[in-house]
Amino acid sequence: MGAGKNQVKEISMAKNFACMVSDRVTYDAVQIHGGFGYMREYLVERLYRDNRILSIGGGTQEIMKEIISKIILQ
Ligand SMILES: Cc1cc2nc3c(=O)[nH]c(=O)nc-3n(C[C@H](O)[C@H](O)[C@H](O)COP(=O)(O)OP(=O)(O)OC[C@H]3O[C@@H](n4cnc5c(N)ncnc54)[C@H](O)[C@@H]3O)c2cc1C
Repeated sequence: MGAGKNQVKEISMAKNFACMVSDRVTYDAVQIHGGFGYMREYLVERLYRDNRILSIGGGTQEIMKEIISKIILQ
């Protein structure tokens, strides 16, 4: 799919963008549910909490930005 090209920059950008969208979606989901969104009994609280690992595991957002910057500045 990458036609033999190094796609690290694009992949890092895609990961950060997906994390940003996921942050926004889960934040809004809790907000829409109000107090219920904050309670452990409701799935939306779990989704909000689990979402946090996306920006940490498999490379943090800060490290992704560092990788992107280094490639752009090469
Ligand atoms: C539930 C869970 C599952 C995991 N599963 C796996 C797994 O299956 N395989 C695996 O290999 N790892 C796994 N990890 C580890 C995960 O990859 C690391 O937590 C992640 O890479 C961040 O490393 P750290 O926790 O040591 O944080 P640190 O490296 O201490 O970073 C802490 C903060 O400082 C920032 N930071 C660090 N260095 C810089 C820098 N140079 N410039 C700017 N900011 C910086 C980070 O972005 C972060 O915000 C898992 C972690 C969790 C919580």
